[in-house]
Amino acid sequence: MPLSPPQDSLIDDLVLANKILHRYGIVDGYGHVSARLDSNAGNFLLSRSKAPALIERTDIRVHDFSGAMHGDGAPYLERFIHSEIYKARPDVHSIVHSHSQGSIIFGVTGRRLRPIYHMSGFLGSGSPIFDIGDVMGDSDLLVSSPELGGALATTLAGQSCALMRGHGMTVVGASIQEAVFRAVYTEKNAQMQLQAGRDGDIKYLSPGEAELTAALMARSIDRTWQLWVKEAEHDRHGS
Ligand SMILES: [Zn+2]
Repeated sequence: MPLSPPQDSLIDDLVLANKILHRYGIVDGYGHVSARLDSNAGNFLLSRSKAPALIERTDIRVHDFSGAMHGDGAPYLERFIHSEIYKARPDVHSIVHSHSQGSIIFGVTGRRLRPIYHMSGFLGSGSPIFDIGDVMGDSDLLVSSPELGGALATTLAGQSCALMRGHGMTVVGASIQEAVFRAVYTEKNAQMQLQAGRDGDIKYLSPGEAELTAALMARSIDRTWQLWVKEAEHDRHGS
């Protein structure tokens, strides 16, 4: 069946998501964000391999759940993070993968990343850690095959964020806006948890508080998204 053209607005939001994630230090030259294509079951949108801040509409490519990229250019080596999580999680419509500093620190110490304030209740009872060494021994640490992507999806299970030992994190959401929101606030939570931990014992959100605050914040994500879009557009056009 031929692919129907992706919605323009979805492509626009994906381009903006790349720029916002770069602006907030979640991605640098590396890292990526994708969006499920509801109009073409079994497909998702992801840029060809490029630094996120430089991505434009013409770089966005349709990928299928085998990890194959349709169109010219080189694909990201780690596109299987996206294909395998979309397969495993029908509720997920957008995925962010990053090598942010806080996620690396928690991924290697084994300390659980837990919600310390209302903005990060989506972290629930704490993020699981995917250790690629448990799956294949010594490796280059990249999730560069369907098997590794599947193992990551298994570790993520029903949660919103999985840390990746010695590598970074993968965060999911029901929309591009939610995935970006969660990626930004996961990193903020990590930095604050580190800082607070130096001063004593931390009282984390209880599981009930995490659930209630996650539901509350999910309803107002658009407010933050509008601000971030404005900032990203100002960076691009200076107006
Ligand atoms: Zn990576």
